[in-house]
Amino acid sequence: MQTPSDTPIPSWAVGDITVHRIDEIPLPPATGPWLLPDATPQVVAGQDWLRPHFADDDGILRIDSHSFAFAVDGLRVLVDTGIGNGKERANPAWHDLRTDFPERLIAAGFPPDSVDLVVLTHLHADHVGWNTRKVDDAWVPTFPEARYLTARAERAFWAAHDMEEARRQMFRDSVIPVEQAGLLDLVDVSAEGVRITPSLRLVPTPGHTPGHVAVELNSQGETALITGDCIHHPVQLAHPAIGACVDIDPRQSATTRGELLASLAGTDTLLLGTHFAPPTAGRVVAHGDAYRLRPVPTT
Ligand SMILES: [Zn+2]
Repeated sequence: MQTPSDTPIPSWAVGDITVHRIDEIPLPPATGPWLLPDATPQVVAGQDWLRPHFADDDGILRIDSHSFAFAVDGLRVLVDTGIGNGKERANPAWHDLRTDFPERLIAAGFPPDSVDLVVLTHLHADHVGWNTRKVDDAWVPTFPEARYLTARAERAFWAAHDMEEARRQMFRDSVIPVEQAGLLDLVDVSAEGVRITPSLRLVPTPGHTPGHVAVELNSQGETALITGDCIHHPVQLAHPAIGACVDIDPRQSATTRGELLASLAGTDTLLLGTHFAPPTAGRVVAHGDAYRLRPVPTT
């Protein structure tokens, strides 16, 4: 495995904010056909621009797990916390990982004790994993000085949901310890979104989950949007109706994606994909009867 010392931390400038990508792992090739079953090799082959970065020559989608870290308005912020190490998971690609994610955070200048705010776009296993780490036999908050923040609607949905055992396990090891430490803040997110600090806004993007939010950054006239899972892969720019097998409300998910992409197309907003393989970021431009991603290299 490469170590942070021989792998630079990719970053992008958004006004005077520097957004760092904190890599966890590339997900295995089987992830694409499972997650986005309608993005068949034929569909992918129809979009030349996806290769080589976002798909391979056989039409297999590249899908990564990473977080984004940045400092804004005096706060050191992490958006989503990946899969985590040592978690018992039914999905073999997520089970009992041993990645160097904490070392990468440190290399980016965000040691866990220094993080003030953890934004959780939604409460799925691959977005809350590093909420906690194992100390002796207990799962404890990885970011003990941080407030963890998610939409009230998201927490409420899962509280009322008849969860299968695997999901209960995820809540037990990655969500409830944060709640019990008094670190989880639930935010009301209106249709217009909610501003957390002058430069940081949560944008409601429901469908994948009911309380899903994207994260918007504004600085010096520049804007970026971190997708969370309202867009899993750039192929969905060309085919906004293609949803994920795990979308709670597939119709709402497609509507959200269509509206979001229409609002971004032709703008300078930097789209930062939570599961997009490198180069990960780009601008949404018109392409055929939909869109494509025009990548923006790291700075
Ligand atoms: Zn995800």
